[in-house]
Amino acid sequence: MLVVIELPEKLPLLTKFSIMALNRRNFLFLLGATTTAASLGYFSSKASAQPLQLLTGDEESEDSEVFQLPPLPYEYDALEPYIDAETMRFHHDKHHAGYTKKLNAAINKHSELKNMSAEDLLRQIARLPEDIRATIRNNGGGYVNHKMFWEIMSPDGGGEPIGAIATAINSNFGSFDNFKEQFNAAGSSRFGSGWAWLVLSRDGKLKTLNTLNQDSPLMEGMYPIMGNDVWEHAYYLKYRNDRGAYLQQWWNVVNWEEINRRFEQASATV
Ligand code: MN
Repeated sequence: MLVVIELPEKLPLLTKFSIMALNRRNFLFLLGATTTAASLGYFSSKASAQPLQLLTGDEESEDSEVFQLPPLPYEYDALEPYIDAETMRFHHDKHHAGYTKKLNAAINKHSELKNMSAEDLLRQIARLPEDIRATIRNNGGGYVNHKMFWEIMSPDGGGEPIGAIATAINSNFGSFDNFKEQFNAAGSSRFGSGWAWLVLSRDGKLKTLNTLNQDSPLMEGMYPIMGNDVWEHAYYLKYRNDRGAYLQQWWNVVNWEEINRRFEQASATV
């Protein structure tokens, strides 16, 4: 679809800039801007105008967005008071969006990889072309880890594990409390940025561990059942330097239904 809008010369610079930066995502924003401009009289028939052709996203572009930023499955403030809305907004809209964008940029350099899932890219990390390997490790990891992270949290979360994962936690760790203690220790002992994990290892056992930066257990042939983000961007606005308090409070939003689904899926592949 092609939209032609007559742009008068006296259109405010900001609006012109918005139109230049137009893509599919901010097209609706543009509609709002043009409506505002029209209501202010900027589109009067007296103004001299140059036609401007705007691409609305249906056209083929050379670079494609193979991976899409998944929307949050709930509102930004849904996990309050344990995770604040501002943290969620920046974490999803800036950090996760950034990983997604850089992952797409790397894949666009190697179109032969476009049919691989992000998870498979991580499983095959050692075999990827060297020029994008580190980028995929960091940003493919960031893409996959955060996709899981939003899903394993819920405003209706918390409480005790359910289903097969509850049984497996008890048999692998002795009790839910022991497991929580080990998981939190994995998170608090991660120096710098990274993740605390519960994984299903290749021998069929559940283990807790932590990884550096955005490294995924998938890179080591393990299946990430659940993970908690211990980068400062995940908690610093609310908890400041107290990672331990964040790790404790996080259990209040843990979505056991989804974690049990991931465990059943992982068990079927071991
Ligand atoms: Mn994060």
